[in-house]
Amino acid sequence: MIKTVKFGGSSVSSGSAFEKAGKIIKSDPSRVAVIVSAPGKRFSGDTKITDLLYVLRAHIKYNAPYGDIIGEIEKRFEEIKEYCGLKFDLKSEFSRFRAELGGKISTDYIVSRGEYFCARLMAEYLGYTFVDAADCVFFDYSGKVDTEKTYKSIAEKAEENRKIVIGGFYGSDPDGKIKTFSRGGSDITGSLVAAAIGADAYENWTDVSGILSANPKIVKDPRPIEKVTFAELRELSYMGAEVLHEDAVFPVRDKNIPLYIKNTNDPLAEGTLVMETFNEDDADRKTHFVTGISGKKNFSVITFMKAGMSENYGFMKDVLGVFAEMNVKVELVSSSIDTFSVTVAETSLKEKFHELITRIEEKASPDSVKTESEVSLIAVVGRKLAYNVGIAGKIFTSLGENGINIKMLEQGADELSIIIGVKDADCAKAINVLYRLI
Ligand code: ASP
Repeated sequence: MIKTVKFGGSSVSSGSAFEKAGKIIKSDPSRVAVIVSAPGKRFSGDTKITDLLYVLRAHIKYNAPYGDIIGEIEKRFEEIKEYCGLKFDLKSEFSRFRAELGGKISTDYIVSRGEYFCARLMAEYLGYTFVDAADCVFFDYSGKVDTEKTYKSIAEKAEENRKIVIGGFYGSDPDGKIKTFSRGGSDITGSLVAAAIGADAYENWTDVSGILSANPKIVKDPRPIEKVTFAELRELSYMGAEVLHEDAVFPVRDKNIPLYIKNTNDPLAEGTLVMETFNEDDADRKTHFVTGISGKKNFSVITFMKAGMSENYGFMKDVLGVFAEMNVKVELVSSSIDTFSVTVAETSLKEKFHELITRIEEKASPDSVKTESEVSLIAVVGRKLAYNVGIAGKIFTSLGENGINIKMLEQGADELSIIIGVKDADCAKAINVLYRLI
């Protein structure tokens, strides 16, 4: 049994956080590959190292003095080093980094240093081998991960060294230059490492006891989700639940590696297990039939009406074709006999709106077009929805009883989620009403 473990920013934010993470790692000898983020916030109002590095970069770009910022970053690492009694020569590393900052240096290189230094310190703390992500996570010319090359290289490094620590979030491009993932990308590094070494589990350690079934800023004390499938997780994250970097699921999903979300501050808490499928019997399917609820605001619903639309062959195709031509991402399409509605994020529409409608009028001649903005989409997600009848009815009734008007209701053929459109102003209330149902 071997495991890959990834510790997020708050789990490596200070010396005492290192200590907790170290205890967790050492308590299970199968935890052989460790991925770390850059130190995150130690308390609310604190600044993440990665954010400080972005600020540093901005100061350099605009020729503003940056001595204090780099000093602050160095101090954060020094404190961890001191607390953990480490020998790593941070002084020389930082004087080299300072010298590099005076030359031609990329943003990606600068911001990757948070993970680099953190991994260096963690490797010494654990007595594991430090592996530089620049030497084993490779991007291709299109900016995507070259998985074949990356897997081969990580597997070799893990084989040679047995127990390794890698900084998340970065790798190198085909020219050997440092390149980073988008923010939160250490989750992807962890997933790649798990896939590369054929881990039996990928544990993602963070500061919450698993994925919550609703946003705690909206619903009071939402229940943590015990088990969720990769498909459900994608629906929940797509609709606004902040859990993992959305690209992090692919490598482990491809290799069927179970993913655990665990809490560094409460290691014994169950956390959430993410897998492709679960073996569930009828009794299981009747409990917690909704896995989670998430919602996103600021959509526009554009409704096209054309008499005889259902007998007409190309109307929908023509209308949707214009959205594609103009690079406006369609989130949802729902239709009735003579109308159909296209839901898009308001940000993707912005100044394109008038041209879009003009082109659609020219191409498809709808009888009328109606637009409604400030719409929220709420997703009620659950693999068990398919086994329980009457849920859409309950949703209608409970929202109606609470005076919330449903703008639309859509269920995919896979019955994995029900999407409900309500006015933005009703979004939080609707989520609470729906949460009480589950
Ligand atoms: N440190 C980077 C960030 O703050 C990457 C990560 O933590 O995953 O986005």
